[in-house]
Amino acid sequence: MDRIKKYKSIRREIFTDSIIVSIIIVVLLSIFLFNWLYTIELSKGLEILQQRNYSLNTFIDGYFTEIRNTIKALAANKDIQNAPSIDHDGIKRVLALYKSFSEANKNISYIYSGYENGQLVINDYTPPEGYHPVVRPWYQSALEAKPAIYIGLPYQEIKTREWLVSTGMVLPGNENGIEGVVVIDSSINDIANLLQERSAEYKSSYSLVAKADGEIIIHHNQNYINKHISEITESPVSFEEENGKFEYMLGDVPKIAYYSHIHDMDWVVITVVEKKEITDPIIWNLLLTLSITVLIILLVSIFRSILLGRRFSSPLIELRKRVTAVINGEDNIESKYVYPNNEIGAIAQEIEHLTENELYDRSVKLQIANILLEKKNVKLAKISITDTLTGLYNRHKIEHELEIEHKRATRHNRPFSIIIMDIDHFKEINDTFGHQAGDAVLRKISSLLDENLRKTDLCGRWGGEEFLILCPETNLNGSKELAEKIRQIINNYKFDVEKTLSISAGCSELSKGENTNDLIRRADQNLYKAKKTGRNKTVG
Ligand code: GH3
Ligand code: MG
Ligand code: MG
Repeated sequence: MDRIKKYKSIRREIFTDSIIVSIIIVVLLSIFLFNWLYTIELSKGLEILQQRNYSLNTFIDGYFTEIRNTIKALAANKDIQNAPSIDHDGIKRVLALYKSFSEANKNISYIYSGYENGQLVINDYTPPEGYHPVVRPWYQSALEAKPAIYIGLPYQEIKTREWLVSTGMVLPGNENGIEGVVVIDSSINDIANLLQERSAEYKSSYSLVAKADGEIIIHHNQNYINKHISEITESPVSFEEENGKFEYMLGDVPKIAYYSHIHDMDWVVITVVEKKEITDPIIWNLLLTLSITVLIILLVSIFRSILLGRRFSSPLIELRKRVTAVINGEDNIESKYVYPNNEIGAIAQEIEHLTENELYDRSVKLQIANILLEKKNVKLAKISITDTLTGLYNRHKIEHELEIEHKRATRHNRPFSIIIMDIDHFKEINDTFGHQAGDAVLRKISSLLDENLRKTDLCGRWGGEEFLILCPETNLNGSKELAEKIRQIINNYKFDVEKTLSISAGCSELSKGENTNDLIRRADQNLYKAKKTGRNKTVG
């Protein structure tokens, strides 16, 4: 019987608790790890972008350093400085020098110098009518940049589609004080190609070059050239720092860009990549790593909670089973379960011990109660068949036994007799000595009967001072002999009240077809005869 029907299972509570705690830990850990790893991985991605940007920067820087050095070397040349005033051979030397430099550096397309006096020194070129170097943009740019070297805006040759740029500087005044400018027109195709080359890591990456004020000067898409970078990013961008990064949206594609200023130049190299190309693999990797971690943590915690649940709840479940069994009165509560060696196990054993004691007490009490009941029953059974005064069978029992013996004798066709005895003049004893003395006489005669009858004979109190004796396996003579023997014993016995007492007896033997009433009636008739004919005698 379950006294407490509804209760929570410890196993389930432990399971639920640990899963909730694990989930909270996992969520917090995931958020922390995700942010941490994302930042690390993102900076790694940016580093790659930065490397790419730096290598382009170095390349462009190297390229222009060489060109600048060449320009400086040429500007220091006396023949070039003095071209307007030197002879034909001198001019030839200058042209040969220009040629040799051009040939030495494949990127150099033209080297030329122009002078204030309108002279132009250049290989394989005839200037058109009215050409004057001083009004050319390269001349003016050089004057503006003086004494520094100017680097012009890159432009694409219409015929060859080759990217070119002019680099030049003002010549120190010659001997006649005539000023001039020396220029190298060089191909920056290599640079342009490198800029649009996609990096191995990020397929969406490319680079461009802008002036420090943000005007785009080299871009693989012609449409962007001469535009301000802010027109593409649609948000203000400035290149104030030596290098840095910025993010923008191109349409709905988020992009990340890294920029760096080129040494000694007014140019900025910008390397652009689609943001998701950096972040997507990071996110996927992180999600995968975190999913595995989460799964492992959850599995471990589920496994742990099941183990813990078992460890704590099993002894309690077992204990409850045993206690319930005791409460339900089931005796057999033996089990092979071994309690764990901890507090729960100890308590369980204590309770079980108490339970076993209770069980033992109950069984002992039950046994005692059974014995008492049995005794009572025996007593009751005896009382129900015993005459209280004499201790002989009562009339009810004698009638019952009479029926049994009658049946047996009839069935087996065996002799069966009865004797009815009556104390003579008993009334006088009562009258003379009192009722109690009469009782004492009745008890004495009963004990004399009991002592002197055969074991097979049954004797009972038939009425007030009348007795009936059943004599199985006995014919009429046998019963008369027995009656006579008893009559003499009583007659010879010295009673306390009156020295001698007598009884009269009537005997009868069962005849074929007779019932018990017939048998009793005939014994009664014989007893009556004995009384009538003087008492203290047997009639059968
Ligand atoms: P008879 O010789 O004709 O048998 O005479 P009797 O006096 O023995 O017979 P009667 O039937 O006249 O008297 C029987 C008496 O037995 C009457 C009654 O008071 C007495 N008696 C019956 N039962 C008991 C008993 O349990 N105790 C005592 N003390 N007397 C009893
Ligand atoms: Mg009588
Ligand atoms: Mg009598």
